[in-house]
Amino acid sequence: MASVSQFNPYQCDQCGTANIVAAPILYEQGTRAYSGPFHSGTSQSYSALAAAPPDPRGYGRPLLLWGIPICFTFFWGFVGLGRILGHPESAARLGETVVVFFLIGAASFAGMLLNFRRIARYNRQVYPQLRWNWEHTYVCRRCGKLRLIPS
Ligand SMILES: [Zn+2]
Repeated sequence: MASVSQFNPYQCDQCGTANIVAAPILYEQGTRAYSGPFHSGTSQSYSALAAAPPDPRGYGRPLLLWGIPICFTFFWGFVGLGRILGHPESAARLGETVVVFFLIGAASFAGMLLNFRRIARYNRQVYPQLRWNWEHTYVCRRCGKLRLIPS
């Protein structure tokens, strides 16, 4: 019977059943929106989680990770700079520290920009392909095998 099944791409290549479903549909069916007095949101069945779409990468995490050292170093850099300007005799004592703070701050800022560029490139080049693959993935309802059918 396996030879007959080759003519129909819309069937499981592991167990042979024609009972396969597109991943976006499986995801939609298993996702329930709910709202209660304390929580609202969506809940997902196990199969919906397995068929979840890929996510584009967000900027929030690197913004937080890099933003904290950037704020910290620039804040204390400017505090030191203000002190030097107010008391020029303290320049010899504080000058080097202030410079180091500003250098670390600038390096963190550069690191954040590089991180953002990597995320933007991923969202522009990698993510659309993952999304397309997801839209063309079928899940067997009998054995759970995933299959990409690019048509
Ligand atoms: Zn199957």
